[in-house]
Amino acid sequence: MMRLSPIAAAAMLALTTSAMTPMTANAAPQADQNRANPLLTKSQLPFQAPQFNLIKDSDYLPAIREGMKQHLAEIEGIANNKAAPTFDNTIVAMEKSGRLLTRATNTFFNIVSANSNDALQKVQTEVAPELTAHSDAIYMNDKLFRRVDTLYKQRDSLNLNPEQAMLLKVYHDNFVHAGAQLSPADKAKLKEMNKEIASLQTAFQQKLLAATKDGALIVDTKEELAGLSDDQIAAAAQAAKDRGLDGKYALTLQNTTQQPLLQTLTDRATRKALFENSWTRAERGDANDTRDTISQLALLRAQKAKLLGFDSYSAYVLDDQMAKNPATVDTFMAKLVPATAARERAEAADIQAMIEKSGKDFKLEPWDWDMYAEKVRKAKYDLDEDQVKPYFELNKVLEDGVFYAANQMYGLTFKERKDIPVYQPDVRVFEVIDADGSPLGLMYFDYFKRDNKSGGAWMSNFVDQSHLLGTKPVIYNVCNFTKPAPGQPALISFDDVTTMFHEFGHALHGLFADQTYPSISGTSTARDFVEFPSQFNEHWALEPKVLKNYAVNYKTGEPIPDALVAKIKKAATFNQGYALGELLAAAKLDLAWHALPATAPRQNVDTFEAKTLASMGLDIRDVPPRYRSSYFQHIWSNGYASGYYAYLWTEMLDDDAYDWFENHGGMTRENGQRFRDMILSKGHTMDYGPMFRAFYGKDPEIGPMLKARGLTGHADADTAAPTADGPAQQPAGEPIDR
Ligand SMILES: [Zn+2]
Repeated sequence: MMRLSPIAAAAMLALTTSAMTPMTANAAPQADQNRANPLLTKSQLPFQAPQFNLIKDSDYLPAIREGMKQHLAEIEGIANNKAAPTFDNTIVAMEKSGRLLTRATNTFFNIVSANSNDALQKVQTEVAPELTAHSDAIYMNDKLFRRVDTLYKQRDSLNLNPEQAMLLKVYHDNFVHAGAQLSPADKAKLKEMNKEIASLQTAFQQKLLAATKDGALIVDTKEELAGLSDDQIAAAAQAAKDRGLDGKYALTLQNTTQQPLLQTLTDRATRKALFENSWTRAERGDANDTRDTISQLALLRAQKAKLLGFDSYSAYVLDDQMAKNPATVDTFMAKLVPATAARERAEAADIQAMIEKSGKDFKLEPWDWDMYAEKVRKAKYDLDEDQVKPYFELNKVLEDGVFYAANQMYGLTFKERKDIPVYQPDVRVFEVIDADGSPLGLMYFDYFKRDNKSGGAWMSNFVDQSHLLGTKPVIYNVCNFTKPAPGQPALISFDDVTTMFHEFGHALHGLFADQTYPSISGTSTARDFVEFPSQFNEHWALEPKVLKNYAVNYKTGEPIPDALVAKIKKAATFNQGYALGELLAAAKLDLAWHALPATAPRQNVDTFEAKTLASMGLDIRDVPPRYRSSYFQHIWSNGYASGYYAYLWTEMLDDDAYDWFENHGGMTRENGQRFRDMILSKGHTMDYGPMFRAFYGKDPEIGPMLKARGLTGHADADTAAPTADGPAQQPAGEPIDR
């Protein structure tokens, strides 16, 4: 996964590991039986930071189990309270419950992702289903729901402030979405459906895994691999050997439609064969064909939505998102089509010209795109990474770039805290100090790649902000940058610089949280909103004032030359017609599958897909969807059903908000304060639409997003802002993606 991992990494991981082999008991013997498990009590460190100096791997499982036990007892107490329900004895009581469980899991899920080992993974496998069952036990608790429902019905007479009213609505929605309102017979039906859906999702995942493995292209001769490096050819030979095909070569498939090797394979027949293997991987009519599974899954999801009172699965999923309903998303995507289609055509024409310039006479096909686009890039947009890297030294980017921008915008300052224990020696901890000198929170930065760290980059909290609980945010950013040799500077790419600003944008959303209730604090927002602050913060990486402050040659001390900055900006607009087109096509497939009504017949997957794509007005022949229905893992097994559009939606928000800054004096303390007050400090205390409108004075529009991707005006314009990250950088199976 490339840059961004969803911030809900912990929760997602808990859900995605349940397919692993269950292990029994935590085998690690306790050396000292009298030693207290440090997770069982509140940390006495500043900001209640995790006591990594005391915690052992063997502490997590007993703490999480004890946490579930305590939490369930608290929940039972609330549900069985003889007193009539009040906001305080029900909703506030739930907010206060489960503190041990939260403390233990917040710490555990960071460690198992960022600094794992076999023992921790065993714990993860073991607790994942237990945590799911724990959550079910709460949301299926009838007595508890009746109390919440009673309060919800009285909501207008309870004298709740806006945050309390939203919290009550969130609880009620969560219960209703989980089926709490159904009759006992329908609840039983829902349980069966959930089981069937889960098993179809697992079946899809397993078939796709096998189909992708079997989809590797086998070639007989080295000549057919012309264009690959010696290392790549050796890897292909080894992959064939692993399959018992000694002497041949296997090109294994990546999860996307386009395959990275297509950029360099010069034998056109090999390119075509590799592309076709990718495109048809899960449609071969064998045991790994996923079409039957997904048409069944789409229908079951539609039936589940109907049971819960929604017209379609999309309507069910979007109900608590910023977009609210499928029609809004459809309209949004349709608006992006004309500019995208025009740029796709212009890019295709450039590529066709490059094909002819290279002395070939064929017509561009999808398997030619990346190879000839790369030649176009070299000719028109060349940016040499080695030229750029000396200006991006990691610590300077952090302290004179990321921190500096936060100082200019929000008045924050940062003080390194070497006294706070860390889980790995490379991790750096800073106290974040607010503009008025008061402590705001604690930040951990874990930037270097390790063998025991998951790929990608993500942000989350060790401690959630809450006035009710008296807690300030304790937040971490995790990335995967290459660690330099001892004594050498860590020089990173501009892409990495953008990732640092991105993850710190999530951190600001968490640091500025100003909520009473932890459930709706900070980044606990909808999927189609949560990437807004992070993508927005990326814009400051190229702000001239910020850039001059951090992009300084590590050897000579020279600031980065303007010509190089211009190249970086220009490179960000390269191939954006294709990039946006393939995302739109995939998002459209996602939405179409989940817009089916419960009464729809089972669909023929290929017919449905072709009809859906044809209806978009994009050139699907040259720019196929990033994932085809039959291998679209995000939507069939990774929890993104009807949610793939969110990447594009949040991109609209962040580019539009940046446009507001450009039109109101840019990076100033006043503007930063306004953004903090109206967006970053709000958590989920109000609806996202009104929140954005209050900030901007209007609904979000796509113009700035198209401009940022270079899709307005001339293709060679030098004015584009950096592109926001999207699913292109997202690994399948990773939580938010990024
Ligand atoms: Zn993100």
